[in-house]
Amino acid sequence: MDKPDCFTPARLWEPCPPAGADQSATVRCRLCRRYCRLTPGQLGGCGVRGNFSGALYTAVGGYLAAVNLDPVEKKPLFHFLPGSLAFSVGSLGCNLHCEFCQNSGISQLSGACRQNPALIKPGSRADAHGIVKAALKSGAASIAYTYNEPTVFFELMQDTAGLALERGLRNIMVSNAYMSGECFSALDGLIQAANFDLKSFSPEFYRTRCKAELAPVLENIKAAVKSGWWVEVTTLIIGGLNDGPAELDALAGFIANELGPEVPWHVSRFHPAYLMRDRPATPVECIELALECGQKHGLRHIYAGNLPGHASESTLCPACSAVTLARHGYRTKALGEAQGRCPSCGQAVAGVWE
Ligand code: SF4
Repeated sequence: MDKPDCFTPARLWEPCPPAGADQSATVRCRLCRRYCRLTPGQLGGCGVRGNFSGALYTAVGGYLAAVNLDPVEKKPLFHFLPGSLAFSVGSLGCNLHCEFCQNSGISQLSGACRQNPALIKPGSRADAHGIVKAALKSGAASIAYTYNEPTVFFELMQDTAGLALERGLRNIMVSNAYMSGECFSALDGLIQAANFDLKSFSPEFYRTRCKAELAPVLENIKAAVKSGWWVEVTTLIIGGLNDGPAELDALAGFIANELGPEVPWHVSRFHPAYLMRDRPATPVECIELALECGQKHGLRHIYAGNLPGHASESTLCPACSAVTLARHGYRTKALGEAQGRCPSCGQAVAGVWE
């Protein structure tokens, strides 16, 4: 199969040790925990990396499918430069296949594209210099790699993040935390903040609903916290699927004990999407039960997502419970003069404030 023009050389792969003469052009992608083994003409699980003539190429190394200037709260990150703008970029493809994907229009490639890579339309041409220049011009404080899974556009993200840091911008990943160790190491030092999905605490849920494994997700989130990234965690609560008391208990316990009670947890309400269009939106009471579960485990900052106007939107002081950052939807207002301190008792609030 001929390589379509949009495919450019990929990083983080290796030739497979040939088990026979006919396998000498097989490659293994080392970008995410799927570690796809690909024969010539084959695309990986993400649908945007493929083996052409014994080398790995990416369809999204120089293209973006979505570009927006978003409040950083939309990522969501509530304790990282609150009130600032994040120049947000995304491409095509995802290494997970969640039945409830809220962004399937860009994350899940059609069967036709998977069969015939020449049909992939990766979006508009983009490069690191152009992205950083546009971000600086927009007044953003950061660049967010988001919308689809940024691991799959690693090459463009790595180049852009390096340049962004040199120009005084921070870098944010909004990710499913399913990257490989090699990918994580390559990004460490380039990324300052992440919102990681923790979709469930059940290995079975990850396997059947997302076509992935839970353990690497937990490992990567822990590694990011340990490396000093500012981390917030999001769980999309789907009524009847991942909202059982025992599961929520284990998940909140993991955040409290393995990540730290100051790591914010966003408990987000599911709306029907992708392969779960027939499932109703999660009842608000389920979200509130999850919030209570987080409180029981001593999490200091728990927020309801996809519920604008909910009482849990604002950031409260962990010592005296006074409102420290008042929030409505994506609008944030710091109360008091010192960023990151309670205006009432002066207690420091965990986060990155400048
Ligand atoms: S990024 Fe992941 S899913 Fe895509 S080809 Fe590489 S290992 Fe496979």
